[in-house]
Amino acid sequence: MTDLNKLPTDKLYINGEWRDSKGGNLHAVVNPATEEVLCEVIQGTLEDVDDAVAAAKAAFKEWRHSRAAKRQALMHAIADGMEARKQDLIDAVSQALGCPPHITEWLHIDGPIYAMRYYADRAEMMEKTEKAAHSVVLREPVGVCGFITPWNYPLHQFVGKVAPALAAGCTMIQKPSEMTPLQDYVMAEIIDAAGLPAGVFNLVPGAGPIVGAALSSHNYIDMVSFTGSTRAGIEVAKNAAPTVKRVTQELGGKSPFIITPDADLEAAVRWGCEDVFINSGQTCTALTRMLVPAERYEEAVNIAKRVAEEIAMGTDKDAYMGPLSSARQREIVRSYIEKGLNEGARMVTGGSEIPEGFAKGFYVKPTVFADVTNDMTIAREEIFGPVTCLIPYQDLDEAIRIANDTEYGLSSGVWAKDAEAAMPVVRRIEAGLCFVNGGEFNYDVPFGGYKRSGNGREFGEAGLDEFIELKSVQLPG
Ligand code: NAD
Repeated sequence: MTDLNKLPTDKLYINGEWRDSKGGNLHAVVNPATEEVLCEVIQGTLEDVDDAVAAAKAAFKEWRHSRAAKRQALMHAIADGMEARKQDLIDAVSQALGCPPHITEWLHIDGPIYAMRYYADRAEMMEKTEKAAHSVVLREPVGVCGFITPWNYPLHQFVGKVAPALAAGCTMIQKPSEMTPLQDYVMAEIIDAAGLPAGVFNLVPGAGPIVGAALSSHNYIDMVSFTGSTRAGIEVAKNAAPTVKRVTQELGGKSPFIITPDADLEAAVRWGCEDVFINSGQTCTALTRMLVPAERYEEAVNIAKRVAEEIAMGTDKDAYMGPLSSARQREIVRSYIEKGLNEGARMVTGGSEIPEGFAKGFYVKPTVFADVTNDMTIAREEIFGPVTCLIPYQDLDEAIRIANDTEYGLSSGVWAKDAEAAMPVVRRIEAGLCFVNGGEFNYDVPFGGYKRSGNGREFGEAGLDEFIELKSVQLPG
């Protein structure tokens, strides 16, 4: 296991060097499985943000004109570094988040390494020009970017922003969540070793309302990309408005999963439950509203109960689900379970009490609610815990109406007889993602939400477009 105390977490990474903060305090990062302090991390100040922005602004002058081949090579060197330090990345994420290490590897680390290389190989797209009649359209980087990331998939969100920004020729200041900043330190060391020019990448951890708010409102930041709760995303957009900077928001979800009457019910319900319980339910795309044909409802409830009761908790190699990320998150999830009961939902398995054998660690039992109606709090609000709701429907029109009756629109799922049969349902769902018959996450395609789940896209070529300004040049005829 990596000694995370060797990371320079009392320092900030600004202008290519590890620096002391100008007045910041240390903040404890807690291992949610043991409840022990892992290490302490510096919280940046407004002055630190100003220094990081000045460095990024100065670096942008040259970096914006760097050759795509140079950026591509540097990004592959970063991906090589990620592979070489994969165990450090696994330990950093799994110890601060609580996800079992063997799951952390494929769920949190492999994809981001792939995505770093994907964007390395897209840097050349910046040098493509388009001709239209007597004009030519050039692609240019948007400028200095501020990134604010959450704790639940910390390396995904880091790479989903940093990699396309590097490919585009932007410079940046990254602020991780206060709870899971450690993989960002590993990444800063990797980036430093790869030889990125000073000031292109800067790391300033800190509190959301201080460092996050300063990045959102800063005069010299051209774009802010935020992932987190809808509440904080709205704050970011409000703070960004006076400077007319570009804002992208990847926010929350309350995603529906429609199982059609002709589906393989066992496979569909099992997949839907495991989708919710992975990462202890702390997944923005979790399909937490399972819509089941009324005539097969009790059958589905029994399958969900069995699957939930089979889930092994802990952090060892047999475990599927670790603890919640913090004591606070556990309390939020427990109070939603209580609300579900108070509003009349039927708890099939799970519950808010401490699971047996888990007196230490912020564990909550995998919980299944049946007889849920879509107006209940547990069907409307993002719980962000291992809690799934089964809602019966009479016909597909009703299923689609319930699916779309949400202020969110991040993800969705359909399980039908086959993919072809699912497509008419897929087309009627208002969401940026749809998983059909257990289809897997794909980093080559856009990720993002409709409605209050956000603005903009990450991953795929659309994720690069977010960092591009288009310049139309009118040539003489
Ligand atoms: P959060 O909104 O509390 O925090 C996210 C980040 O924003 C943190 O770095 C935090 O310090 C910062 N922040 C908080 N207040 C801020 C403010 N006023 N101004 C600027 N920054 C501020 O969210 P969280 O609890 O860390 O993460 C969970 C949420 O993230 C869930 O709602 C989840 O759905 C969402 N999420 C969305 C996606 C997506 O891509 N759509 C991915 C992962 C998580």
